[in-house]
Amino acid sequence: MSKVLVIGAGGVSSVCVHKMAMNARIFSEIHLASRTRAKCDAIAASVLERTGQTVQTYEIDAEEVPALTRLIEQIGPELVVNLALPYQDLPIMDACLAAGVNYLDTANYEPKDQARFEYSWQWAYQDRFKQAGLMALLGSGFDPGVTSVFAMWLKKHKLKTIRQLDILDCNGGDHGQAFATNFNPEINIREVTAPARHWENGGFIESPALSHKVAFDFEAVGPKNMYMMYHEELESLAKFIPELDRARFWMTFGDAYINHLTVLKNVGMIGIEPVMYQGREIVPLQFLASVLPKPEALGATTKGKTNIGDIATGEALDGSGDKTFYIYQICDHEEAYAETGNQAISYTTGVPAMIGAALMLTGAWTGEGVFNMEQLDPDPFMAMLNAHGLPWQVKELAGPVDF
Ligand code: NDP
Repeated sequence: MSKVLVIGAGGVSSVCVHKMAMNARIFSEIHLASRTRAKCDAIAASVLERTGQTVQTYEIDAEEVPALTRLIEQIGPELVVNLALPYQDLPIMDACLAAGVNYLDTANYEPKDQARFEYSWQWAYQDRFKQAGLMALLGSGFDPGVTSVFAMWLKKHKLKTIRQLDILDCNGGDHGQAFATNFNPEINIREVTAPARHWENGGFIESPALSHKVAFDFEAVGPKNMYMMYHEELESLAKFIPELDRARFWMTFGDAYINHLTVLKNVGMIGIEPVMYQGREIVPLQFLASVLPKPEALGATTKGKTNIGDIATGEALDGSGDKTFYIYQICDHEEAYAETGNQAISYTTGVPAMIGAALMLTGAWTGEGVFNMEQLDPDPFMAMLNAHGLPWQVKELAGPVDF
């Protein structure tokens, strides 16, 4: 029996709140606050219709720390689940500390004026959470989130060491639009157009954005081109799997997506520096995001599957020499939409957010300080993935990846 406050009311939040309501024995009271209360009310109405559970809603600007602290104190939750944008991570952590409440998020902090994300800002809260006897869990989505837990499950059950790790993120869904992003457009485009970085021999190596392309045949999706990118779990995996020689992250993009992005970049539409337009400042990328399809509106038309997983090579636990394992999850967009009214990218993020929250609230995952997913026992999380809509598979490959 636990009270939870979710902040943010986009696609990920919608899935997470629906899944919380479906697990009312753990989440006995759900409160939902965001910048636009109407979006909270729409989620609450859908949850009531689908599950019969009531969700209390509020309007809050999460960057206003005193107001947010007051709201948290007024509600008195055991956990705040941050499903707003990465820009709000630090103010929400500040408010949690001020109100004495545990914290969880799915994406690491990013300053608005730099297209750059790293854990240093949030790891800097370690002592304050520890001294307050509180827990902050970072990155409980799919990637980051499940991809880190997959690696730690392999380390617990299959491999003594992981020397090579490739994370493969394939969205084989077709939404029928000429160009759209599958989660928040501003955050998505900042991430995709940033320089690629991968971990090799003790340091990060940078290469131009989208400059490494490899074809890969994904189960249930088929052959796709995937591009090497930087992704935040590479930083925590390199920290918590110190023997890693190489870790890379790959994401699939169709040619139409790449062509649109290239044109938008060439004409200056993805810039994050303000420009003057008709006497007022606008940020080109924010304007672009405002005219692109809303990710939560894509659910009804998206067909196909996602397939996201890890390929890891290292020394087998049973002493049988080097082995390579592929552990992955396949999610169907239409099935995800039928269950909560959201497409699979929101679903694959919102479900792990619910699971991380459930493990904290039930005491299966406890601690004082700031934690990454790699630091916690993967087994209860993996069991809940199977039980709550994200079943996974693991298979041994003949050898390490040849790309
Ligand atoms: P959306 O843009 O759909 O939703 C974000 C929500 O946050 C909106 O409801 C928005 O309000 C609200 N919000 C924004 N600013 C504030 C503020 N200052 N105060 C209060 N609320 C605010 O995003 P998604 O649902 O697609 O993504 C949510 C989070 O999940 C993001 O951080 C994203 O990076 C992360 N993510 C993580 C993934 C993973 O696998 N780990 C994958 C996909 C996403 P409004 O409606 O008024 O705009």
